[in-house]
Amino acid sequence: MKAGIHPNYKMVQVTCACGNSFETGSVKKEIRVETCSECHPFYTGRQKFAEAGGRVDRFNKKYGIKTEQPQQ
Ligand SMILES: [Zn+2]
Repeated sequence: MKAGIHPNYKMVQVTCACGNSFETGSVKKEIRVETCSECHPFYTGRQKFAEAGGRVDRFNKKYGIKTEQPQQ
């Protein structure tokens, strides 16, 4: 790699809205998420957190995007 033109990729702490945190690789200093593998309904079987009304939910409402899961 050329020096000076690549972002500084390193391990950072990811903090979820549910309180869970874990490490991942990123160029950012820290990452905040609303859903992680610990609280996502797909893994927990609960629907609660997906309807929490966070930034994603507001975005979906603003642009009229339906949040229902597509039928598999
Ligand atoms: Zn979480």
